[in-house]
Amino acid sequence: MGTRIEINKLVKVFGQGQAAARAVDGIDLTIEPGELFFLLGPSGCGKTTLLRMIAGFIDPTEGRIAFDGKNVTHAPPNKRNTGMVFQSYALWPHMTVAQNVAFGLNVRKIAGEKRDKMVRQALAAVQMDKYAERRPTQLSGGQQQRVALARAMVINPDVLLLDEPLSNLDAKLRNDLRHEIRRICKASGNTTVYVTHDQKEALSMADRIALLRDGKIVQLGSPRELYRSPKSRFVAEFLGETNLIKAERAATTTLRVEAGAFEATRLRDQDQSESKQILVSVRPEATSLTPVGEPGSLQGALLETTYLGETAQHLVELQGCPPIKIAEMNPFGSSSRIHPEPGDLVGVRFDPGEVVPVEAD
Ligand code: ATP
Repeated sequence: MGTRIEINKLVKVFGQGQAAARAVDGIDLTIEPGELFFLLGPSGCGKTTLLRMIAGFIDPTEGRIAFDGKNVTHAPPNKRNTGMVFQSYALWPHMTVAQNVAFGLNVRKIAGEKRDKMVRQALAAVQMDKYAERRPTQLSGGQQQRVALARAMVINPDVLLLDEPLSNLDAKLRNDLRHEIRRICKASGNTTVYVTHDQKEALSMADRIALLRDGKIVQLGSPRELYRSPKSRFVAEFLGETNLIKAERAATTTLRVEAGAFEATRLRDQDQSESKQILVSVRPEATSLTPVGEPGSLQGALLETTYLGETAQHLVELQGCPPIKIAEMNPFGSSSRIHPEPGDLVGVRFDPGEVVPVEAD
């Protein structure tokens, strides 16, 4: 089940001469059968163009796309057996839910009881079987998107392509549907390629993520790898909040800033001959407030605290660093060690195993 997608040296140039823009700039990528694969990146990074080349809506300038070894680089969309779900649902308003889902089967000349059974099964998979006779206008946005998913999946596509499918929905529904879509895609066994600019969506749903910038993949890996071991400043900042600190290497696993020295055990794997100046990323949740003078902590002054209920965000001034962001779970709870006010001196501790050296890019 599922199709392997192999992409080699893929390029798409829009326009000519001076106005030419390389929207996709030499992408090499293999997506494994049954994988739920995310293309993530800021606006204009080329993710939609890449998805549309996989679908066959855009003809590549250079390079190759193969499905299970078969070259489909210049094959039209209807020769690729892909199912596509768009941000705008794109359901036909004059047809019922069942007729919308049946459409692709009619095109493929599947009729009668066989077709009706496939429609029922597809609607059941997205829990919309009770709504088969309604029209799209009588459904909520989330329900319409489920129907669009059933319509894309009913043809049993080799590859399922999703283009920002949740971005028209409100935050609560987006959250609910994330789990649902992951469940449906994994249960179907289809290889799925999903485009989004929402890092939370990608982190919570993906098997693997390719993070794109200016038409190139800057890092590829599981959500955990990308979040916990970003290779560059861009990746660290794109995937959530972080503290970026320029430090000097004082010893194999020790860094120094004006405020003092701190441990960074991951530096052990780094080449010692690299320059003494080093840029590191430490997530706010891997940084904590401590009593002043606690071993392993640096001393700073609390600038402000934003209380958010389950968490608090503290901002601390530390000599030689940008303001340090600290996330505290269950703030003012019984395990909270200190309750400083703005202006108070505090200790700041970076978890030594969570200090990640990154390229400055
Ligand atoms: P978004 O999240 O905003 O949709 P994206 O990452 O999907 O962005 P693309 O739509 O793939 O980005 O566009 C990549 C680049 O190619 C952009 O600079 C865009 O302006 C350009 N581009 C896309 N389509 C065309 C086109 N038909 N003609 C000319 N330039 C295009």
